[in-house]
Amino acid sequence: MKAVIIGCGRLGAELANRLFLRGHEVSVVDQNENAFTKLPATFVGRFNEGDAMNRDVLHRAGMEYADTVAVVTDSDVLNGVVGYLARSLYNVPSVVVRNHDPRYRPILEAYGLQVVSAMSWGAQRIEELIYDTDMRAVFSAGNGEVEIYEVSIPEAWQGRAIEDLVAPESAVVVSVTRAGRAMLPQTGMRLAAGDTLHISATLEGIQDLQNRLGKPKK
Ligand code: AMP
Repeated sequence: MKAVIIGCGRLGAELANRLFLRGHEVSVVDQNENAFTKLPATFVGRFNEGDAMNRDVLHRAGMEYADTVAVVTDSDVLNGVVGYLARSLYNVPSVVVRNHDPRYRPILEAYGLQVVSAMSWGAQRIEELIYDTDMRAVFSAGNGEVEIYEVSIPEAWQGRAIEDLVAPESAVVVSVTRAGRAMLPQTGMRLAAGDTLHISATLEGIQDLQNRLGKPKK
């Protein structure tokens, strides 16, 4: 896959190197040549110094041939404009843009772009860890609207019905792991303390689950 990464800061450099390690052809753009020093010496790819708003720079980076473009500068406006150009002018099949300030997220979404809000996502993860060490997100779908959580069943829920744990409109139990063996949840199944459940849930679903389990703790 040919990937163009616009912005080689903390996020862009990490992403570029990850894609390189997976065997993809990576081309990186940044207006500041020092930014490329964030990439490890083992990284092999194309470095394109210049302003991402400049069409020549985008051309040099290989936008015409890109299978995927990630626009991850620290400017929401720039990410929106370049992401939009990547999709509408260069017809790049997969375009993902970084959202820095959560207030700008709706604008980026209005462009019809796939948006990753690193700040909101980070804050949400930290909040989860602060409130609850028995519950953590292990998979995030789309922009995080639905996530799969790993939940450890506490002593107080020993013997209770699995149906009591989740509101079906906002959460679904996808597996139950007991004594190291995973199984699909069955109607009428009783929970045991120490079970590990994987639960697919919206944010509302997980908040509801925390309430049912008697959390948040703090
Ligand atoms: P960070 O916030 O550490 O992820 O860094 C963001 C990166 O985006 C920095 O390396 C900036 O130099 C880069 N950047 C910001 N604006 C532009 C632009 N107009 N063209 C190219 N790179 C940019």
